[in-house]
Amino acid sequence: QHLTDHVLARAGELGDKPALIDGPSGRTLTYGALLEAVRALAGGLVARGFAPGHTLALLAPNLPEYATAFHGAAYAGGVVTTINPTYTEGEVHHQLVDADARLLVTVGPFLEVARAAADGTAVEEIVVIGQADGARSLTDLLGEPLAEQVPVDLDSTVVLPYSSGTTGVNKGVMLTHRNLVSNIAQTLAMAEVREDETLTAVLPFFHIYAMQVLMNTALRVGATVVTMPRFELEQFLSLHQEHGVTRSFVAPPIVLALARHPLVDDYDLSRLEQVFSAAAPLSAELALEAGKRLGCDVVQGYGMTELSPVSHITPAGGFRPGSVGVTLPNTQTRVVDPATGDDLDFGVDGEIWVRGPQVMKGYLNNERATAATITDDGWLRTGDIGHIDEDGHLFIVDRLKELIKYKGFQVPPAELEALLLTHPAVADAAVVGLPDEEAGEIPAAYVVRQPGTDATAEQIMGYVAGQVAHYKQVRRLDFIETIPKSASGKLLRRELKRRALGDPA
Ligand code: ATP
Ligand code: MG
Repeated sequence: QHLTDHVLARAGELGDKPALIDGPSGRTLTYGALLEAVRALAGGLVARGFAPGHTLALLAPNLPEYATAFHGAAYAGGVVTTINPTYTEGEVHHQLVDADARLLVTVGPFLEVARAAADGTAVEEIVVIGQADGARSLTDLLGEPLAEQVPVDLDSTVVLPYSSGTTGVNKGVMLTHRNLVSNIAQTLAMAEVREDETLTAVLPFFHIYAMQVLMNTALRVGATVVTMPRFELEQFLSLHQEHGVTRSFVAPPIVLALARHPLVDDYDLSRLEQVFSAAAPLSAELALEAGKRLGCDVVQGYGMTELSPVSHITPAGGFRPGSVGVTLPNTQTRVVDPATGDDLDFGVDGEIWVRGPQVMKGYLNNERATAATITDDGWLRTGDIGHIDEDGHLFIVDRLKELIKYKGFQVPPAELEALLLTHPAVADAAVVGLPDEEAGEIPAAYVVRQPGTDATAEQIMGYVAGQVAHYKQVRRLDFIETIPKSASGKLLRRELKRRALGDPA
């Protein structure tokens, strides 16, 4: 099946049921209206010469119409490249050029950046969702509704998201109809998302996690999605109460807020059945702390853009603190010694390799990176370190690239961050490796102080030292205002390191 046929299979029959609700305004897009708009947009695009292989770029925050533009382009046989709304003009420009986009869909507030970024690219037209002075609107593109998906090969690229760039330059990831449809079906075989549910979409749709695990999966089962254009805790909580939200897809920084922020007690979250966290490491301690307060399990999924994105998910009723879950159906996992390529035993940490129908076709315009990431027999090297227990539960330790090398020992910063967060004076924390003449690298911690506490850096370092092996001790600790995090909820250790080394680049 093609992506849109799969995702909107039940839209006609669901008719007046709300598919997406704009949280702040309450504006609703029903399943029937969504299907009609997708077909009309696809028809309009085809009439304007948008053909298979052509690319539409989407630069917008979460809004109901995000789904319209996204599926309109897919239904017309094209490719959608989703752009991070927090990107600078230069970053947007780079993606527009790399993806060879010819149409750009955005919103009024981004119009100026969009115009400047599109200058000198293949973009022929910019349209806005809603209205903006001097710009055409997405509704102006609607045409005669297309009755059927424009036929394209199931192995052709339909979505071109970019990896987060957490560890280096981000890369365009070619995902096909088959990749994405497989992954929605695999996810639903394991996660319990039902038609009678209401979900919040606070993580950005441009990123593969919210795009697939939330938007497309929820639409596939006929649930209702409440969209938020940005994360704001009070609004997030009040929307949960107002709409009786049953399941929340979040990243670890939101779990931290749900576990610790005083505001949480002011809202009725009793309808919440589960909080689902992915995108970055979440410790067992924090998952349990948040779960206790919310009265539900805080479970995890694991994946990456290159995996459409999921490979592991906590099975229904199979919550195990600290684990990201078990391998999805029709997927294989190996734990490999990154130096030798040998398989490792249960419980032993190594690089996680995954094979299945959700493995990307490759990186766009980057055959070298593709060849370095996918083996000849189809295994994707994730670059993440972890182990599997005897029941098949995967535990992620950290990224291979971010392990700190202290005197020849390897120190996973995520383990120290989790430990720091258990200290009462620590509101948030990040650990990076800083160069050191004698040790090679030392673990250095950045800590946001819990207001009203007065523990010293020495006391907090002592607390950590009392609980870890000698080589894992934090050797330096600085207090800072906030920890830099990406739009998709990832800790930007690279950014902290850059600041510490005084490198302006
Ligand atoms: P880039 O590849 O461009 O450096 P990125 O890897 O952050 O950026 P994404 O594809 O958005 O880009 O993120 C995938 C990564 O997120 C995984 O490789 C893993 O490191 C991390 N991740 C995802 N889910 C989890 C999880 N549940 N626990 C720990 N880490 C996770
Ligand atoms: Mg990556």
